[in-house]
Amino acid sequence: MIELNNVSKTYGTGSHAVHALKGVNLTIPKGAIHGVIGLSGAGKSTLIRCVNLLERPTQGTVTVDGQEVTGLSTPALNQARHRIGMIFQHFNLLTTRNVFDNVALPLELMGQPRNDIRERVTPLLKLVGLSDKSDQYPAQLSGGQKQRVAIARALASNPRVLLCDEGTSALDPQTTSSILELLRDINQQLGITILLITHEMEVVKSICHRVSLISDGELVEDAEVGDFFTAP
Ligand code: ADP
Ligand code: ADP
Repeated sequence: MIELNNVSKTYGTGSHAVHALKGVNLTIPKGAIHGVIGLSGAGKSTLIRCVNLLERPTQGTVTVDGQEVTGLSTPALNQARHRIGMIFQHFNLLTTRNVFDNVALPLELMGQPRNDIRERVTPLLKLVGLSDKSDQYPAQLSGGQKQRVAIARALASNPRVLLCDEGTSALDPQTTSSILELLRDINQQLGITILLITHEMEVVKSICHRVSLISDGELVEDAEVGDFFTAP
C-alpha cells in the first residue's frame, strides 16, 4: 500500500549537504496504522513529505496504492495526491473560510459542482463530530476541533492513505486521545491506511499496529508495537 524502496533525501550540496534520509526501506500494508517515531531532526517530516511528494527523493522510489509516485509528471502527481490525505501539527486551515468551506476546498480545486460538494462535506462533518460547527471560523474553534476540520478536509477527496505529521503534538493529552480515537475509527470504518509520525511514544502505543524508529535519517527498527515496547 505504501512502499519506500531505498529512499534517500539530501538537502543542499557540497559542504552544506544535509542527508535527511539514507536508504530507507519501508513497507506498510493496506489497512495498517504505522507509526514512525524519532527525535527532532531525525528525518520524520522529510519521510512523510517524500510519500506525498511535497519533497522529491534524491534517490529511490515511493509506491502508494500500487502506483509508483516518484516517476510521475506534475499533472499525474496532482491526480495521485487525491488518493493521499495529509494532516499537520498546526492544522493549516484557511482562517478566512468557515468550517464547511475549509473541508470543501480540495473538492472545489478538483472542480466539483456545488451540490456534489455539499453531499460529500455534510457526512464528513458528521463523521468528525462537527455538524453543528459548519458556519464557524477556525478562530472560534478549539485545537481539537481544528484538527477535526483538517481531518475532514484530508478525507474529502476519498484518499486511500492518510499521512499525519505530528498531528496531535499541539494538543493536550485528553484532546490527543479523542483525535487518536477518531483516526482509529477512520482506519476501521473506511479501511484507510494511516502513516503517522510523532515524537510521542504514547501516541504510537495507543493506536499503531507497527512502528519504525528513525534516527539520523536511517530506519533502525521496524517491529510490532507490542514487541517494540516490551523489548529488553
Ligand atoms: P524531523 O521531522 O524528524 O524533525 P526533518 O525531516 O524535519 O526531521 O529534518 C531532517 C533533517 O533535514 C534536519 O537536519 C533538518 O534540519 C533538515 N531539513 C529539513 N528540511 C529541510 C530543508 N527544506 N532544507 C534544508 N534542510 C532541511
Ligand atoms: P516540524 O518538523 O515542526 O513539523 P516542518 O516540517 O514544517 O516543522 O519544518 C521543519 C524545518 O525544516 C523548519 O524549521 C523549516 O525551516 C524547514 N523546512 C521544512 N520544509 C522546508 C522547505 N520546503 N523549504 C525550506 N525549509 C523547510
